[in-house]
Amino acid sequence: MKIAILSRNPRLYSTRRLVEAAQSRGHEVVVLDVLRCYMNVTANKPEVHYNGKEITGVDAVIPRIGASVTFYGTAVLRQFEMMGTFPLNESVAISRSRDKLRSLQLMSRKGVDMPVTGFAHKPGDTKDLLKMVGGTPVVIKLLEGTQGIGVVLAETPKAAESVVEAFMGLKANILIQEFIKEAGGADIRCFVVGDRVVAAMKRQGAEGEFRSNLHRGGSATLTKLTAKERATAIKAAKTMGLNVAGVDLLRSARGPVVMEVNSSPGLEGIETATSLDIASMQIEFIEKHLERTVNRSSLTKTRGKG
Ligand code: ADP
Ligand code: MG
Repeated sequence: MKIAILSRNPRLYSTRRLVEAAQSRGHEVVVLDVLRCYMNVTANKPEVHYNGKEITGVDAVIPRIGASVTFYGTAVLRQFEMMGTFPLNESVAISRSRDKLRSLQLMSRKGVDMPVTGFAHKPGDTKDLLKMVGGTPVVIKLLEGTQGIGVVLAETPKAAESVVEAFMGLKANILIQEFIKEAGGADIRCFVVGDRVVAAMKRQGAEGEFRSNLHRGGSATLTKLTAKERATAIKAAKTMGLNVAGVDLLRSARGPVVMEVNSSPGLEGIETATSLDIASMQIEFIEKHLERTVNRSSLTKTRGKG
C-alpha cells in the first residue's frame, strides 16, 4: 500500500510514529506538506502535484491538519478523495469538528451528553445569558482558543459579567458553559479508532488549576473507563463522522459529558501514558478498510460477469 501523510512537519512525534508504523507493516509512505500541494481542480482527471511532479498511486491519506491550515488542508484532502484515495478522516468531518458551535449543536441533536452550554457574540443582556446556562460558576471560552488559552472560570455573577463584556469588546464569539466542579480539574482523553476506544488517559490540572491541558502544566495518568464513558466517546466520534478522534470527557455527577472532539489527536501524550502503539492501530484500520473495499469490488465484478 502507498500511504500519504499530510503533515507540515515530518519531525513531529505523531508524524514520525505514523511513518514508522506504516513502514514496519510493509507500506510505502510519503509525508506531504499540505501547503506545498497544488492541484488542478478543473481536470476531468483530478490531480495533486508536489515539487513539480504529479502524485500518483496513493491508496490512503492520513490527514494531520493543524487548526491554522484547516481551510487549505481540507481542500487538498478533498482533492485526494476525488481521486478515489481513502482518507483516514474525511474532509467534511474535519471541517465539521473544527467548528466548535457546529459540533456542539450536532452532538446535542444526537443526544450526546455535554455541559449546559450557551453561545453569544454580542449579548444584549448578560444577566439573562448567565441565567440561561444555570448561573455562576460558569466557564467562559473564546471560541478560537486552544491549549486552555482563553478559558476562564468566573465564580460570581459580577466576575462573569466583566469577562463577557471584556470578550465582547474584542468582538470575539464566546461560549458560556456550566462549570463541572466535580471533575476536580481533570478531564479524560479517549482515543477512538473505528468503533473502539483504543486508549484513554486522565489529565489532571496542576494544583489550583481547573484546566487540565498538558500545556498548562497538567499531568497524564492511566484511567479505566466505564461502559457509559466508552459509549459516549464512540457516539461523539460517530456523530462527527470521524474514524479517528480524540474525545475529551468530563466526569460530571450526572455521568460523562463531552467537552470537545479533536480530529487530529496527538500521539505523544497518549502513547507515553499508556505504552500502547496507537500509530499501528491507525494503519491497521486503513488496511482493514481497504481489504474490505477490494473484496467488495471483486465480488461486484464476479457478480457482474454472472
Ligand atoms: P481548549 O480547546 O483550549 O483546550 P477546553 O474547552 O478543552 O479548551 O478547556 C480547557 C480545560 O478547561 C479542559 O481540559 C478542562 O480541564 C477545563 N474545562 C473546560 N470546560 C470546563 C467545564 N465546563 N467544567 C469544568 N472544567 C472545564
Ligand atoms: Mg481542550
